[in-house]
Amino acid sequence: SSVAAPRRLAVLGATGSIGTQTLDIVRLFPDRLTVQVLTARRNAARLLQQALEFRPACVVIDDPEGYRQLREALRGTSIEVLQGEQGLCACVQRPDVDVVMAALVGFAGLRPVLAALEAGKQVALANKETLVAGGALVRQTLRRYGGTLIPVDSEHSAIFQCLVGETPASVETLILTASGGPFRTRPLETFDRITPDEALCHPNWSMGAKVTVDSATMMNKGLEVIEAHWLFELPAARIQVLVHPQSIIHSMVTFVDGSTKAQLGVPDMRLPIQYALSYPERWEAPHERIDWARLGRLDFETPDPARFPCLPLAYEALRRGGTAPAVLNAANEQAVQLFLQEQIRFTDIARLVEAALEHLSEPDAVPSYEHLQEADRRARQYVLELAGVAAH
Ligand code: NAD
Ligand code: MG
Repeated sequence: SSVAAPRRLAVLGATGSIGTQTLDIVRLFPDRLTVQVLTARRNAARLLQQALEFRPACVVIDDPEGYRQLREALRGTSIEVLQGEQGLCACVQRPDVDVVMAALVGFAGLRPVLAALEAGKQVALANKETLVAGGALVRQTLRRYGGTLIPVDSEHSAIFQCLVGETPASVETLILTASGGPFRTRPLETFDRITPDEALCHPNWSMGAKVTVDSATMMNKGLEVIEAHWLFELPAARIQVLVHPQSIIHSMVTFVDGSTKAQLGVPDMRLPIQYALSYPERWEAPHERIDWARLGRLDFETPDPARFPCLPLAYEALRRGGTAPAVLNAANEQAVQLFLQEQIRFTDIARLVEAALEHLSEPDAVPSYEHLQEADRRARQYVLELAGVAAH
């Protein structure tokens, strides 16, 4: 028969925004996708519900209390229960897993992604922080073990789609589009007073808290520039950012002959998630189509570095190389957490990241996991100390 065997998935971060939308795609294509592994940090009740629906071979949870609950609840079933980072790294290497959907948040995603690539798996990557902190190491791991990386982030999926049928020598520039977030037109002198609730309200996308705050500072676009650098192997000078408030064009590629291709769609993460799972095929699905006449117009503007200082900071981290992007990422993760806990102001995020980048970046052509982990730990510590000073 011509019907392919279903792709067997490990969904890391199954209870999150990308994770639950990945499971929506599995529900749409029960003959093409099956779930072998589901993981979460601490929402045991949600993970249990998902396990009972999808009947994976294995679930992994970080939280010790959640682990105890799941062991209890799944006793007598064939579902194995594992815990923590060790559990994550073991489950992605299972022989009955074909594709790993990496949808954890932050640096915590790096080790499981490396483990998956070391086992030669296909990784659908939503967790951009993995490539920001460990891009050189991830590329080295790809070269050594022959795994593959497919982007899930909407901009990178768009570029990936534009590149189908093209050669690397034909590519001139990548143009990452950015919505500009909720503060694109807010008076700059009021940025000090931005609250977590205001920052968590994104005009076009519904996402996890961390990436939503990153969108408000535009650090998200900075992280995506670094992500694009490692995914598509282009220098920073050939990766541009363009503000496009409607989020209909998800990104573009300009080629050496002057032609530009763009990928367009309604802002719905299920489209890039599905493409990452169906690639190189496209699967018929009832996702919303663009109503072109109603859409009417698309707008563009250059990002303002005074309004969004995190964007130039990300370019600076890429220029420095070594551990600088890992420091940028860790300082940002810590600062965003402090902002959400109302311990620092919105404008402190860029200030703290800049200080960490300035003081802690170290050269290293391909930082090892241990070096990155140390850089990550020190950057978080540094931000906590600086923020403590600022609070007194
Ligand atoms: P989320 O906060 O909604 O979900 C995160 C998931 O990861 C949860 O299941 C959580 O339990 C798990 N998790 C978090 N920290 C963990 C840890 N330390 N150890 C183990 N598990 C952990 O996040 P999200 O919005 O789904 O984002 C996931 C990733 O995808 C992020 O890197 C984000 O930047 C990226 N991304 C998200 C979107 C979006 O629309 N949500 C779009 C583009 C890219
Ligand atoms: Mg994105």
